[in-house]
Amino acid sequence: MIVILKQNPEEKQLGNLMAWLESQNITIHTSTGEMHTILGLVGDTSHLDIDLLRALDIVEDVKRVQEPYKNANRKFHEDDTVISVSNTTIGGDIFSVIAGPCSIESEEQICQVAQAVKDAGATMLRGGAFKPRTSPYAFQGLRGEGLNLLLKAKKLTGLPVVTEIMDLSQLNLFDEVDVIQVGARNMQNFELLKELGRTGKPILLKRGLASTLQELLMSAEYIMAGGNEKVILCERGIRTFETATRNTLDLSAVPMLKKLSHLPVVIDPSHATGISWMVKPMALAAAAVGADGLMIEVHNDPKHALCDGAQSLTPEAFADVMQSVNAILPHAYKAGKGV
Ligand code: PEP
Ligand code: MN
Repeated sequence: MIVILKQNPEEKQLGNLMAWLESQNITIHTSTGEMHTILGLVGDTSHLDIDLLRALDIVEDVKRVQEPYKNANRKFHEDDTVISVSNTTIGGDIFSVIAGPCSIESEEQICQVAQAVKDAGATMLRGGAFKPRTSPYAFQGLRGEGLNLLLKAKKLTGLPVVTEIMDLSQLNLFDEVDVIQVGARNMQNFELLKELGRTGKPILLKRGLASTLQELLMSAEYIMAGGNEKVILCERGIRTFETATRNTLDLSAVPMLKKLSHLPVVIDPSHATGISWMVKPMALAAAAVGADGLMIEVHNDPKHALCDGAQSLTPEAFADVMQSVNAILPHAYKAGKGV
């Protein structure tokens, strides 16, 4: 349920209303927009008398929210959420580009790639230390040692870092990580999501291989219900009958998610297509359709990459993508509240 307040509500009446709602076991999320303040009520609101609330002096209107996701809902929070990540932000006017290798392989590799993507204009560095691989015999990542190398590259370049957590037991290693990634395969690992909701860290939440947008938003809700509102949604392609590409990039997810939710949305054209030459056109399409940013895999030697070489860009190709994306950004559609 949302309660839309009249402009400049009388403070004492507002205090009384909030205290009464809290006494009914309702959690209140206050969102101060340009025109109105909205109280988002989370909890069992079925027993609240909507007409009684509507009749209050300070209340403009009351609406029931049908969608099962509340905190992530645009109705609860009219304006786009802007998340601060170290020296940058995501979800605001800056188009965020998160770039780096699929896996951290060595100090030389991660530091070289980090410097190159920074020089090309990336705003954050990615690199996997814990790798969710389809085969148990494939390279599983350098794990704790990989995280140390990623932090070295962070120190060298000043870029904030994004890396994937696969299990709760790894959380104590993530203190200096700026954004924790939840991979597609873990999107519905609800225990993990709940625990991440108790951290204050921004979470990059990838859409599951066969998950609907509502399921993605419900997973975001798990994190937000724990008190962590810093969730970045990532569309990375979904499973369809098509085999020409690794996945099918659902670009329509961008305007739809941005209509349904206030959270930032980024596109990962690398995992979506699985093919390096397709990254540029899809990155351009993502920018055009109003995404808040991109996540792109870049490797200094893609042919010899230990993971996802076929979809990885060389630093030169990445710089070219950055140039092209920057050229179209001023003309890109600004996805927002929709009509
Ligand atoms: C990744 O970003 O390296 C990754 C494993 O992505 P996804 O979870 O989207 O497959
Ligand atoms: Mn990868």
